[in-house]
Amino acid sequence: MRKEEKITYLMMIMDFSINDKQKMIRRITREFVEQYIAPVAEDSDRNSQLNPEVFEMMKKMNFFGVCIPKEYGGAGLHDDTTSFAIIVEEIGRVDASWSITVGVHCSVVAYPIFKFGTEEQKEKFLVPLARGEKLGAFALTEANAGSDASAVETSAVLDGDEWVLNGSKIFATNGGIAKTLIVAAKTGKEKRKGFTAFIVDTETPGFSVGVKEDKLGVRASNTSELVFQDVRVPKENVLGGVGNGFRIVLKILDFGRILIAAQCVGLGQGALESAIKYANEREQFGRKISRFQGIQWKIADMGVAVESARLLTYKAAYLCDHGKPYGLASAMAKLVASEAAMNTTHFAVQVHGGYGLMKAYQVERYFRDAKMGEIYEGTSEIQRMVIASHLLRGAF
Ligand SMILES: Cc1cc2nc3c(=O)[nH]c(=O)nc-3n(C[C@H](O)[C@H](O)[C@H](O)COP(=O)(O)OP(=O)(O)OC[C@H]3O[C@@H](n4cnc5c(N)ncnc54)[C@H](O)[C@@H]3O)c2cc1C
Repeated sequence: MRKEEKITYLMMIMDFSINDKQKMIRRITREFVEQYIAPVAEDSDRNSQLNPEVFEMMKKMNFFGVCIPKEYGGAGLHDDTTSFAIIVEEIGRVDASWSITVGVHCSVVAYPIFKFGTEEQKEKFLVPLARGEKLGAFALTEANAGSDASAVETSAVLDGDEWVLNGSKIFATNGGIAKTLIVAAKTGKEKRKGFTAFIVDTETPGFSVGVKEDKLGVRASNTSELVFQDVRVPKENVLGGVGNGFRIVLKILDFGRILIAAQCVGLGQGALESAIKYANEREQFGRKISRFQGIQWKIADMGVAVESARLLTYKAAYLCDHGKPYGLASAMAKLVASEAAMNTTHFAVQVHGGYGLMKAYQVERYFRDAKMGEIYEGTSEIQRMVIASHLLRGAF
């Protein structure tokens, strides 16, 4: 096969289930990512910093407004989660830090405000989020509330027309650079019904950013502690009603998992492509290493893992866009895609031999980045719990 034919074939595998508009979105995103993100991805990882020029260009591309309707300044893909997944996948193929930055902003901040917010909240918060003038972060996890989200201790007490928030959150993606937060806090004694979600402006007095985490992977993505000391939030910033926070958080996570899955598909795709390229170039024992069956089996397993993960991810997106229950599908997609990303990046390093550990080859970064997929927005153990609980209730 000639080089162009090979690329076309790979694209066909990816594109058989998507429409022309979605194919165009993939092509445009890929061109953008190759031109602007790929050249600076290694530097961003090394400096643990997102590139500000890329940030500006991403605003112009409307990536921050992907799942917001046009009337609020977005790209109008709020009912096309497959396109959103494709965008996150294409960014993740080159730089997982950017895919998680955009993915979190859109899926667990902007989209929930669009879905559960009042008209007033949409007008106030969605426009700057869509334009990327304000970045969003989702603050659920605390030191004693990780997998068990119902153990949240951050409190919100009503005082006149304002809720007063006290407590601290950890590991918030975009936390140190966000301007708009969705914060889960306790507003009552009941484990689940005593929960409320708030939209918090980070300019509010009493709010501060704590520790910025130094991480194994997705190093350019900002992960920070958030501190709330008598932060007064107006009553109208309650998202989805007092006492509905737990239900809303679960729905937010159902949606967010599609994007983590898409990010992992992209990572796996990037690792697969790097492994194929290297295997077709590197010679040992007088021939290309791609001629060895041991390498071919790895390539085959990588391809199967990535494609299976992609299909599950698009299935979850499809169900979401067609108004069907998708919590089971998104948990399955996230579980399979994160394990696919781990396995493919592992194999990609192996195919590269010693060079796979060197900074000069991007698979080293992919390998570190992949681990995050098995942890955030619910660990793999928690995904299995979610999947089992759906299945045991007869959801198949
Ligand atoms: C890079 C990064 C970004 C993140 N971004 C965000 C964010 O934007 N917003 C946010 O709110 N949080 C975020 N998180 C937090 C993330 O969602 C939590 O780390 C995750 O949910 C796990 O919680 P934990 O770390 O406290 O682990 P724990 O809950 O303490 O789990 C430790 C281990 O025990 C296992 N375990 C726990 N309970 C069970 C059980 N019932 N059965 C079987 N095994 C179990 C877990 O699977 C895990 O292996 C982020 C985390 C990371 C690393």
